[in-house]
Amino acid sequence: MPDDAPSLPDFIRWPSFPFEGDLRVKPLKEPVAVEPARSGENAEDCVACSTPDDAYIWVSERWRVRGMDRPTGLPAVLILECRSHLDLGDLPNLLAAELGVMTVRLERAIRSLDGVARVHVNRWGDGSAHLHMWFLARPHGMLQLRGTFLALWDDILPVIPEHQWRENMALVAAWLAEFGGQAIAEPPHIQWESPATFTDQPAWASPETATEDDGAVRFGSAIDNLAEASLDDPTAGTGRRSNHGEPSVAIPQQQDGRTREPGATAGNDPGR
Ligand SMILES: [Zn+2]
Repeated sequence: MPDDAPSLPDFIRWPSFPFEGDLRVKPLKEPVAVEPARSGENAEDCVACSTPDDAYIWVSERWRVRGMDRPTGLPAVLILECRSHLDLGDLPNLLAAELGVMTVRLERAIRSLDGVARVHVNRWGDGSAHLHMWFLARPHGMLQLRGTFLALWDDILPVIPEHQWRENMALVAAWLAEFGGQAIAEPPHIQWESPATFTDQPAWASPETATEDDGAVRFGSAIDNLAEASLDDPTAGTGRRSNHGEPSVAIPQQQDGRTREPGATAGNDPGR
């Protein structure tokens, strides 16, 4: 290592730091004079604006919530978007106020999931221009995941079972729908078939509709990776469902939505 290499920061010794071994700081590049445009800087090129409601887990008149295109390591990773093509600092007072309400509501919804201790809320905004707030569920008891590095751990942890992920998406959607809007995600069906048939996914997670770099839409997008700005491509999960003409999934009787049996409110699920 050169003598002028920057010294390593204290956080590499934090229990939550995901890596060990020999590390060194990357050389810092010179600042650019003009920053490159973000994805969807113009509304006509904005993926969020052109993505239909059925790619989301819950929608309302002015807000939408979507998940990743597939399960990740955390119990839930969700994105809150406004419908309007605006960034955070552009929000008019109405949307700004509603953002506060929606942030609290979605945090509660995710925290209501079994095994979730905390919900991290982030907005980076370096990848895509259209406002998108990240909500990452930190598993209960996993103290090593506390704090700054949760988005990194999401890509390190073993991927959660798909049925659990789908149920979590549906429970959050049902929770939100208790206050208005329309739940899109539905609980998974009981898997009567052999595990070998367990290949279907919600339409928003349909492999054929995923982008080429969809694998990186996981935590890599959560940190709005500057080196690969396209990772923040909200095109991930732009699948279409065919069963969203109905108002919503049935609202669970339980206020917290926890005790609903998987598949109890689902029909034939023609969208899958
Ligand atoms: Zn937009």
